[in-house]
Amino acid sequence: MSAVIMDGKALAAKIKDHVREQVEKMDRKPGLAVVLVGENPASKVYVNGKKKDCSQCGIYSEEYVLPGETTQEELLDLIGALNQREDIDGLLVQFPLPGHLDGKAVELAIRPDKDVDCVHPANMGYLMMGEETLWPCTPAGVMRLLSEYEIDPSGKRCVVVGRSNIVGKPQAMLMLWGDATVTVCHTKTPDLAAECRQADILVSAAGHTGLVTGDMIKPGAVVVDVAVNRNTEGKLCGDVVFEEALEKVSYITPVPGGVGPVTRAMLMENTLRAARRHGK
Ligand code: NAP
Repeated sequence: MSAVIMDGKALAAKIKDHVREQVEKMDRKPGLAVVLVGENPASKVYVNGKKKDCSQCGIYSEEYVLPGETTQEELLDLIGALNQREDIDGLLVQFPLPGHLDGKAVELAIRPDKDVDCVHPANMGYLMMGEETLWPCTPAGVMRLLSEYEIDPSGKRCVVVGRSNIVGKPQAMLMLWGDATVTVCHTKTPDLAAECRQADILVSAAGHTGLVTGDMIKPGAVVVDVAVNRNTEGKLCGDVVFEEALEKVSYITPVPGGVGPVTRAMLMENTLRAARRHGK
C-alpha cells in the first residue's frame, strides 16, 4: 500500500492565505498579543514564529517577553490591561510558565472571547458541549488536516494517545463531535499496543520518541503524529516510528512538517474569528 504523507506546510500556507485575504477586506485589523515569561529558548522560537505568521496574514501583533522573576500580580495586571484593549482580539500566554507562577489563575484571567488557544475553562466547557467557540489550535489543526484529505472521522474508531488539557482531551472531544468512536489512552493504559491496533484513526500526542511502532498500527489506518520530540541525534521527531508506520498506513503526518505548521495557522484563523466576533 502506498501511503500518503500529509503536507502540513502546504495546508498552513493555504489557511494563512485565506486569513490574509479576509483581513485585507477589514477596516480594522485583528490584533494578537503573545506573552512569554522567562528565558525558554523553545518558547522564544514559537513566539517569533507567531510574529512572522501575523505579519504574513496582516494581523497586528505585540509580543511581551517578561523577565523570569515576573510576579503573579505583574502578569495578571498585564493580562488585565490586554483584556481591556479594543485593538487586541486574541491573547495567548506561552506555557510552560516559571514554577512560581500559577498557570490556572493565568488561564482564568484571559477573557474568554480573546482566548485564542482555548485554555479558559469556559471555552473548554463550550467545546465539551459541542458549541461554537475558539477551538484549541492543535486539535483543531488535526481536524483540518483530516478534512483537507477528505478523511471523515464519522463512524470510525479513533484512538488518541495522551490526555492533556491542551491536546489529548480536546482532540478526543473534536473526534467525538466528528462522530468517531473514541478511546483515550495514557500512561496507565494496560495494553497500549492492543488499543492502537483498533484505530482507524490514530492520533499520538504523548511526547515519547518511538512509542508507536509499526506493529501497533492497523493496516490502512490514518496516523496523525502530534508530538514534537528530539531523537538521540537531536533531530525533531514524533511518537511514531515513521519508516515502520509507512508500511502500514493509508495516510500519515510527518514530523516536522505535519501538525506543527497547521497549529500555527489555526492561531491566525482563531485571531480572525475573535476579531469578527468583536465586530471588526
Ligand atoms: P503532556 O501534557 O506531557 O501530555 C502527554 C500525555 O501523553 C499524557 O496524558 C501522558 O499520560 C501521555 N503519555 C506519555 N507517555 C505515554 C506512554 N508511554 N504511553 C501512553 N501515554 C503516554 O504533553 P502535551 O502538551 O499534550 O503534548 C504532547 C506532545 O505533543 C509533545 O510532544 C508536545 O511537544 C507536542 N505538541 C505539539 C504541538 C504541535 O503543534 N505539533 C502542540 C502541542 C503539543 P498521563 O496523563 O498518564 O501522564
